[in-house]
Amino acid sequence: MKNDITTIASLRKTIQDWKKQGNSVAFVPTMGALHDGHLSLVKHAKTLADKVVVSIFVNPTQFGEGEDLEAYPRPLMEDKAKLALEKIDLLYLPTITEMYPPEFATKIHISGITDVLCGASRPSHFDGVALVVTKLLLQVLPDYAIFGQKDFQQLLVIQKLVKELNIPVKISSAAIYREPDGLAMSSRNRYLSKEQRKTAPKLYQTMTDIQVQLLENRNIETALTTARQALKQSGFDVDYLDIRFEDSLEPATILSTERPARLFAAAFLGQTRLIDNLSLEAPNDQN
Ligand code: AMP
Repeated sequence: MKNDITTIASLRKTIQDWKKQGNSVAFVPTMGALHDGHLSLVKHAKTLADKVVVSIFVNPTQFGEGEDLEAYPRPLMEDKAKLALEKIDLLYLPTITEMYPPEFATKIHISGITDVLCGASRPSHFDGVALVVTKLLLQVLPDYAIFGQKDFQQLLVIQKLVKELNIPVKISSAAIYREPDGLAMSSRNRYLSKEQRKTAPKLYQTMTDIQVQLLENRNIETALTTARQALKQSGFDVDYLDIRFEDSLEPATILSTERPARLFAAAFLGQTRLIDNLSLEAPNDQN
C-alpha cells in the first residue's frame, strides 16, 4: 500500500499536515492477522473522523514468557489487502526498534483492575498493553481511538490510563464481532485444529446459557459452577469464568439494574487461550 509508514517522524508529519487542513483523525491499533472484528473497528472509525489510521504492531512487551510471541500470525500481505478494501488513509507499521530502542526503560502499571481476570493469569500483560497503547496514542495523537469490547478488561485499562495521564483522545468502543456460530473472532482462532474449532463455540453457548439462567433468577455461584463443569467436560481448561461489575471488575454476587455486571471467560482449548465476555441484565424483580 502506498500509504504505509514505519517511522514516528513521517507519521507525525503526515498527521500534522492533515490536522492543519482541518481533518479529524481516528486510530485503530491492532496486532494484525486481521479479521472482520478488526475491520468492524475500522468501519466504526470511518464514521467518526475524516482520516483513519490503522497500526499493526505485534507488541513484545505484552507477551509473557512461554507465550505465543514468535508463533503469533503475521500475514502482512493479506492484512494490507483487507485494509486496502476498507480504503484507510494510513497504515502505520512501526519496527521493534522504532518502538523500543536499545536501553528502553520506561514502564507503565495500572494497579487494581489489572490484578484480576487476564491480569491474574498473565501478570505483566497489561503493563505491556498500557505501554504500547500510550506510545501509539502519543505518536498518532488522534481525536478518537477505537478498541473492541472483546478485550473488555483492556478497554477499561485504556480508558483509565487515558484519563489519568490526561492523553487528549476520545476512546470509543465497538461490540464483539462473532462467527455465525457465536465464537468471538480472534487472530488466535487460526491456531485451533478442526476438532477444537468445532468445540470452540461452546464457550459462548455456555455463557449465553448462564445469561438466561440468571434472568430466571438462578443463583450466580450455582450457575457458574455448573457451567465450569460443563466446559471442562467439553474439553476446555477453564482459566476463569466470573461475573464482575463493569466499572471496577470486583466480583458481583448479585445482579442489579443500578450497576452493570458482565460475565467474563477465558479458557484453553489445547494451547489456544480463548477469551469472551457478555453483558448481563438483572432480572426484573431483583434490583
Ligand atoms: P488485537 O489485534 O487482537 O490486538 O486487537 C486489536 C483490536 O481489535 C482490539 O481493540 C481488540 O479488542 C479488537 N478486536 C479483536 N477481536 C475483536 C472482535 N471479535 N470483535 C471486536 N473487536 C475485536
